[in-house]
Amino acid sequence: MQGLMQGQPLLISSLISFADRYHGGTEIVSRTIEGPIHRYSYRDAHKRARRLANALRRLGVQEADRIGTLAWNGFRHFEIYYAVSGMGAVCHTINPRLFPEQIAYIANHAEDRYVFFDLTFAPLVAKLRPHCPGVKGWVAMTDRAHLPKELPDALCFEELVAAESDDFDWPELDEDAASSLCYTSGTTGNPKGVLYSHRSTVLHSYGAALPDAMKLSAQDVVLPVVPMFHANAWGLAYACPLVGAKLVFPGAALDGKSVYELFEGEKVTFSGGVPTVWLALLQYMAEGNRRFSTLKRTVIGGSACPPAMIRAFEQDHGVEVLHAWGMTEMSPLGTVCQLKAVHQGKSLDDRLAVKSKQGRAIFGVELKIVDSAGKELPWDGKAFGDLMVRGPWIAKGYFKGEGGDPLRGGWFPTGDVATIDEEGYIQITDRSKDVIKSGGEWISSIELENVAVAHPAVAEAAVIGVRHPKWDERPLLVVQKKPGAAVTREELLAYYQDKVAKWWIPDDVVFVEALPHTATGKLLKTKLRQDFETHKLPTG
Ligand code: AMP
Repeated sequence: MQGLMQGQPLLISSLISFADRYHGGTEIVSRTIEGPIHRYSYRDAHKRARRLANALRRLGVQEADRIGTLAWNGFRHFEIYYAVSGMGAVCHTINPRLFPEQIAYIANHAEDRYVFFDLTFAPLVAKLRPHCPGVKGWVAMTDRAHLPKELPDALCFEELVAAESDDFDWPELDEDAASSLCYTSGTTGNPKGVLYSHRSTVLHSYGAALPDAMKLSAQDVVLPVVPMFHANAWGLAYACPLVGAKLVFPGAALDGKSVYELFEGEKVTFSGGVPTVWLALLQYMAEGNRRFSTLKRTVIGGSACPPAMIRAFEQDHGVEVLHAWGMTEMSPLGTVCQLKAVHQGKSLDDRLAVKSKQGRAIFGVELKIVDSAGKELPWDGKAFGDLMVRGPWIAKGYFKGEGGDPLRGGWFPTGDVATIDEEGYIQITDRSKDVIKSGGEWISSIELENVAVAHPAVAEAAVIGVRHPKWDERPLLVVQKKPGAAVTREELLAYYQDKVAKWWIPDDVVFVEALPHTATGKLLKTKLRQDFETHKLPTG
């Protein structure tokens, strides 16, 4: 027997329609590329998204067509998200920090019909254009007065919008229709496209907003530092309209000072970003002995958040850290680290020990860890294995079948190695490629990095496996010191005593000016492994 409930499809357009109706006056504030701060409301954003949808129709955009973006977090990017997906086309966010050849590959592979770009990327677009013959038009996200000189024939966003009416009815699409596309920057091979649907996006937004996930509400002021080209700003551009939170977009200025000023000026209560961004912000805070007056919570993920960073936020600034884990293929949220009732009354140290884990699954995400034969491992916080996931907002394949069928028995292999404890909290020990295999045993590079960055002289640290004649691989610690700080190799190695098993202590330390990062702010370990391929360990 079938239930007797209405079958309205779950559509992205319903998020902005809802925000317009129930939170129409709530603000969206953007730091623009042109300079001034821009302010308007959900109602205005919805109006302009409908005008833009009309403009896209006039340009000949059809359902399922891909529309690329090369853009920072800002109001026009937000309008594109809703206009493109809402009319039935596919919003394809491209990471502008990738190499131009990669971007051209991605735009061509996706067959983008139009590409919208922020002024910052005009020189990049000038380079890309000859290599992307399938793109019918490039749209500068600005007004006529600011059109870039190097692209005289670019279309002008504001002119497109101004020429249209806001009379546009969002079509009732199939909820399983493709809505957006984001390529993963795999460390090997070509990037692969993750194709989200309306249904997966709306379900993920519900999940993300839950009290034990990001706990978003109409009382929040949310500043996504995480870019809208990095897995849809972790869903914030959808989850905020779903709850009616005020949105603050930082544009291109992601340095500590700019972010801090926006936090204070707009009374931000919630933010999200990768650890490297918070590193810069905390440094800026420490330099001027500055305080947050409104910030309450921040979600940190994308790479392991070092416990020292969680302590700095919670103890020094009274800001709650929500350590989260996920991936582009997971829309991206998988787990968020929120405490349970059993943790109440525990000491700060005990609570921080839990909070340094990546958290527990949001309803909608199933997790398991398996050994190399695929056998499920126990949830005891000790056994570690390949982390597998499944659920309605997790990819079942890549765009155009790239890379074949990724699933194993219906589960998506994340490529991460993790433990799961009795309470269901996962701890990522490594990317499987980054695990250090020493004498048949595994050493967690993340755990060794976490120890190093707790040292007061260390700004950032990476640990990689280096060839060893006897042990196969041994850990090498690569360190970037804080400006003006001094520390020796011997002091750092001594710092590991009593913090990890003796045989985990790195065999050597190298100091570098700066550590390499990927386009999404993760440590670029492939580069480090190349750089130190022939490094002679003193123990070797
Ligand atoms: P991406 O799809 O580019 O966001 O990368 C996803 C990958 O980032 C995951 O598979 C993990 O390896 C890593 N990652 C994300 N969040 C965390 C975290 N909190 N701790 C450790 N690794 C993380």
